[in-house]
Amino acid sequence: MSSSKRTRLCTEYYRKSKTCSSNLRGCLKRDRPRRKCSTDHTSMDKKYNRVEREEVGENYRTCSILPRFTRNLDKTQIPNRKRLCKLTSSVNQRSSSQKVVSNCYIKAVPDEVLLQICSYLQEGDLCSMAQTCNRLSAICQDGCLWRSLYSQVFEMANIMIKTSEGVYVKQEPENDLSWKRSFRTLYHAHHVHPTTAKQKKLNPLQYTGRKINYHETIKEALDAVQDDGVIIVHSGVYDEQLSISKPVAIIGAAKSKDDPVVIQCDSSTVVSFIAGSGSSFLGHVTLKNCPNGESEVIRSGCVEVVDDCGPTIYNCKLNSLASAGATVYVHGRGARPILSKCFISDSENVGIFITDDAQGTYEDCEITNIKLAGVWVRNHASPIMRRNKVHHGRDVGFFIFDYGLGYYEGNDVYNNRIAGFEIRSHANPTVVGCKIHHGMTGGIYCHDDARGEFLENKIYSNTYAGVWITSQSNPTIKNNEIYDGQQGGVYVFGEGKGLIEGNNIHDNALAGIQIRTKSNPIVRCNRIHSGLHGGIYVHEEGMGLIEDNEINNNTLAGVWITTGSTPTLRNNRIHSGKQVGVYFYDGGCGILEENEIFNHKYSGIQIRSGSNPCIRRNKIWGGQNGGVLAYNGGLGLLEENEIFDNAMAGVWIKTESNPVLRRNKIHDGREGGVCVFNHGKGVLENNDIFRNALTGVLISTASFPVLKSNRIFDGGAAGIEITNSAGGVLEENEIFNNRFDGICLATGVEPKLSNNKVHGNRREVEQAIESCRCLYQVSGNTCYPMHDFYRCTTCGTSDGYAICVSCVKGCHEGHDVKFVRRDRFFCDCGAGSSGVLCKLVSGNCWSVASRTQAARVASGGQTETSAQEVRDNQALCVS
Ligand SMILES: [Zn+2]
Ligand SMILES: [Zn+2]
Ligand SMILES: [Zn+2]
Repeated sequence: MSSSKRTRLCTEYYRKSKTCSSNLRGCLKRDRPRRKCSTDHTSMDKKYNRVEREEVGENYRTCSILPRFTRNLDKTQIPNRKRLCKLTSSVNQRSSSQKVVSNCYIKAVPDEVLLQICSYLQEGDLCSMAQTCNRLSAICQDGCLWRSLYSQVFEMANIMIKTSEGVYVKQEPENDLSWKRSFRTLYHAHHVHPTTAKQKKLNPLQYTGRKINYHETIKEALDAVQDDGVIIVHSGVYDEQLSISKPVAIIGAAKSKDDPVVIQCDSSTVVSFIAGSGSSFLGHVTLKNCPNGESEVIRSGCVEVVDDCGPTIYNCKLNSLASAGATVYVHGRGARPILSKCFISDSENVGIFITDDAQGTYEDCEITNIKLAGVWVRNHASPIMRRNKVHHGRDVGFFIFDYGLGYYEGNDVYNNRIAGFEIRSHANPTVVGCKIHHGMTGGIYCHDDARGEFLENKIYSNTYAGVWITSQSNPTIKNNEIYDGQQGGVYVFGEGKGLIEGNNIHDNALAGIQIRTKSNPIVRCNRIHSGLHGGIYVHEEGMGLIEDNEINNNTLAGVWITTGSTPTLRNNRIHSGKQVGVYFYDGGCGILEENEIFNHKYSGIQIRSGSNPCIRRNKIWGGQNGGVLAYNGGLGLLEENEIFDNAMAGVWIKTESNPVLRRNKIHDGREGGVCVFNHGKGVLENNDIFRNALTGVLISTASFPVLKSNRIFDGGAAGIEITNSAGGVLEENEIFNNRFDGICLATGVEPKLSNNKVHGNRREVEQAIESCRCLYQVSGNTCYPMHDFYRCTTCGTSDGYAICVSCVKGCHEGHDVKFVRRDRFFCDCGAGSSGVLCKLVSGNCWSVASRTQAARVASGGQTETSAQEVRDNQALCVS
């Protein structure tokens, strides 16, 4: 020990002696033995040869170690053995009945000096000395002595304790006794310390008094150590290849971070655990594999674990530059290592490769910047992987393939160049509670008959879709949150399947769920919302059972179905979209059953361009642009739906579309019930159309639908109106209790009418004319009752003006007035827009607000789909 160390120790003692625990101080202060000293040293030695001798060693006795420590000291300063013996006869000075021994030398020596003397002793001597009396025992327990010895022997800055799981972990000392306890744990270790081993061989006498085995190599220590023995490897670089076939603990004793324990090998695996190694331990070392060109075929770089052994590899740094194989290679039935808190980085191969029925637990590791996958699992291997961080890989995070299994919980997988998890060819892992994010492609990629369960993960901010499912794969994606993707949420394509259930899918840049190319997943009970695109997009012959989902607040359509797709949507709530609810176009088909579709900015359902869905028993309400809109050749069968409280019309049929509507209830529309125009067709059978604010069924502009056996009643305007060269077949309809007439036909219109029952309509238009009231007083300017349409050229009116029969008589008497036709119009005279103050309507106001009437009449009277909607629809089709 150097003199500076001694000084430091002493100074530290003085400091401690003032603040040390009361317990220790009590011990140090006790100046009287409880029993008289026996001078029979032989019997004393025997007596103290017991386990409890530290507790019972209350008497002073002469120490056999004294000759040894006096070797190192100036003999004049230390009492010799005989003189010290006198001291041992000291007795209780307070007892007046006993004789005071005045020359008790050791009593006279202050604790501080004794402690300094002890600091020259080795562990064996301290233990022996501690057996002599309480005072010395207390001094010999002192933490600074054992810390000094500990750092001398084990060269570590922290204590090392063995947990109940057999793991050697570094810890901050809890108290003064921690150092001694840790010393005891490691005491019988074999030490790998090349310089000391060499010196000891050259000069063995220098090392007397300390029974420590020093070895030049780890291999040599491995040969020497017994089963369950401990090998302490001191700082340095060891070029060795270790094959461990008996249970041992190999502990790296790095002096500091800058002075690590490195075991490296160029030609093959650095450490192999083979049969017989049982529950070995390897910890606190750095393993490096830096192969030259020839050895690149090796399969494992740093650690290999084969059949029937379960080593613990703890707190190691692993790095392999081999361009093939894996940094950690675990294979074979019964291979079940525990890899914990390891750091695997910068490897040119796979991080951890587990295969051929191997198992094991892999937790709290960090795996980063690996050229191939962070983890490979194949061929019935089934690891448990918890709380690992797998990130910044140059390939996928986890690759589980060829019947690979395993349980993956709480891992953080991010910034990998390819997917976070790739599952392939019959692999079937369980992935729970992981964070999978910022992947430079997708989050989870299942292909080639992959299976797997993905439960309660957070999958977000990936460059491609959060989850990809393709080529017959059939995973379970359940209760995950999938969000902020730069593309879609879940993407099922190429005959993918899967159960997608209970997920919260939101704020993705493309569709929440996309189903393509003959894929057929089950999509159930998900919340799909706030997407920057559509909710669910089914195209290119996509299928799928989509039920019990809540689809809302998406930027484009809630559900799009196109290009030969035939999904079944059942019992979903599709609402509050910024465009359409469900959008069928370009041959979209499928079944839409028992859904609630409401509060969309455009229509609830749109059917377009050859689409032919079956739409049954849905409730469709709150569309700002109609309940159902069929156009551009849209088809479809609509049965038993309830369509109500929509703006514009309950159902629009236009531009060559030809749907069939049966047994629907179309009611309480904010405007008309059904509106057929611009060459619309369609068959309406057995529908109830009632309580709509405007016309029950309006047929306009060359449209020719078939209306059979419908009941049209309680409307706020006419029952049926036909205008603008339209026609159709009207058979056996019952039309009653509408505000205007039952069936109103404009000039030139010739529908086929047969067996319609028209009764009890209120005929308010006729009544107005009969009582010489202006028609405007009946209709206002929001409704277009059918009547004779006149124009007054005297008043300089243009084609846009229509005036009613009453105003011809009452306001334009003597003017040049001519009959134009019978059609749907409100009276511009009454509205105050004709330039003449209507004498029949008080308070009218010369406005120009209604001058567009003629154009509106020509287009069918009710407002067309907005230009914005047309543009948006075009955009949808392009995308
Ligand atoms: Zn009028
Ligand atoms: Zn006039
Ligand atoms: Zn008038």
